[in-house]
Amino acid sequence: MKPKLNVLFLAAEADPFIKIGGLGDYAGSLPLALHDIVPTSEDETGIDIRLVIPFYGAIQQKQYPLKRVAAFEVPHAGGSLPAEALMLEMRGLPVYFISGSMIPADAPVYTSDPAEDGRKFTFFSLCALELARSLEWPPDIVHANDWHTAPAVYALSLIQRDSDPVFNNAAALLGLHNLPYLGAGAEQALDEFGLPPAENSALPGWAKQMPLPLGLLAADHIVAPSPTYAQEILTPEFGSGLHSFLRQRKQDISGILNGIDVNRWDPRTDEQLKANYSHEDLTPRKVNKTALQQEFNLEVDADIPLIIIISRMDNQKGIDLVPDALRHIAGQRWQAVILGTGDPVLEAAVRGLENNLPDQVRVAVRFDAALSRRMYGAADIILIPSRYEPCGLNQMIGMRYGVVPVARATGGLKDTIQDYDLSEESTGFLFDKESASALSEAIRRALAVYENRDAWTQLQQRCMQQDFSWDRFARQYLTLYRSLARAKAARQPGSSQTEV
Ligand code: ADP
Repeated sequence: MKPKLNVLFLAAEADPFIKIGGLGDYAGSLPLALHDIVPTSEDETGIDIRLVIPFYGAIQQKQYPLKRVAAFEVPHAGGSLPAEALMLEMRGLPVYFISGSMIPADAPVYTSDPAEDGRKFTFFSLCALELARSLEWPPDIVHANDWHTAPAVYALSLIQRDSDPVFNNAAALLGLHNLPYLGAGAEQALDEFGLPPAENSALPGWAKQMPLPLGLLAADHIVAPSPTYAQEILTPEFGSGLHSFLRQRKQDISGILNGIDVNRWDPRTDEQLKANYSHEDLTPRKVNKTALQQEFNLEVDADIPLIIIISRMDNQKGIDLVPDALRHIAGQRWQAVILGTGDPVLEAAVRGLENNLPDQVRVAVRFDAALSRRMYGAADIILIPSRYEPCGLNQMIGMRYGVVPVARATGGLKDTIQDYDLSEESTGFLFDKESASALSEAIRRALAVYENRDAWTQLQQRCMQQDFSWDRFARQYLTLYRSLARAKAARQPGSSQTEV
């Protein structure tokens, strides 16, 4: 038997233990999907992946049956700080929770104080490395994510400088899910934990002591959640001031899409739907459409195209383009249901649209997972006019339910949607320009195809047959892990080379 590839996977959140946003979905599903991969031949290495997250108060309240597996200290300017690791197995995947005074039980996951969060996550990052040492478990890969755990990547590079027996063979991978969050305000925290500025580095001056830039500098490889976003971050528009630096690291940046949990998102079994269905027969969707039209007091007619938006109300999502875009096409026959919460200005803008077009538009300003499912199960078109979209789950979930996306051609949207006019295998309608008229033009194109029922049904069926399962993308991660470990081993003359 070949030795397994050891992967230490760090994140600030992981579903189902704690989830605030998309990072929670990612860290809750990718490690499990990797853990579930069975090597296809005797020659292939298996994977021993272990997830590490902070032991927040919100997790403590859930009273999981945890085992205390390690206790250690991390150095700090004010004196060493004690920490503990607790553990459980989730479907066979080892999950570790780090507890210590810097992770207060009464604070939320993300506070409004960047210095406090900086201390919490730097402490956590260093503890995760210490945990591997305590367990005498040398990682082949340390996979950190976003600014919160980027300090682990930077610390690893400093440790390796001193030839460390546990970490010397470890390659560092940094997952980049939200580049604009650089970890500003954590500079002092890094200093307190003995992580100095990267003075003689290619980073711009302002970034030399910020967690994410330091992680981007020190990582052996950087992975973005879509191939297109991996390119876009090299441009001034998307690079958050780091595009020139990132261009120098171009060879070490790749993009792998996120998957969705195809069991949780399945129109054949979704209990929130009045009528379940599969791509083989879409007729039961009419029942769901009727129910949604009744629920929102819209005219009940299965032939009226139903447009939906399910989104954070955020500038990133291009929601400000929607009111004008829909007003442009108010003369046509369609209905729209908009679900979302966030920026009060955007909430007011879509409410204003509802007032202007009372026969066509309904707005629900809240987070409502059950309603989102009823909408996916009923609608014809989903609008996703994002300014930037590292990956995007909305379009994948929509497609899985037979809702055709009308989306801006950016990031993961561009990688997961084939435009109707450009591809025989089309799965939606893309537009380039960040403008209300470009959005309304794309909706018009969709409405025109909707008139041809056979063509529309085929389009929906193609959408539903796309493979967005984690299994597919987890295999791409495994291939990346293997190549990083191989490259690292090759760079270690005299070290016992792990075969991968
Ligand atoms: P992001 O993570 O940037 O918000 P994604 O498209 O990757 O965008 O994921 C958004 C997820 O959140 C989707 O699953 C979407 O259905 C869900 N969602 C967004 N807003 C709401 C809401 N108001 N109610 C229910 N679900 C929502």
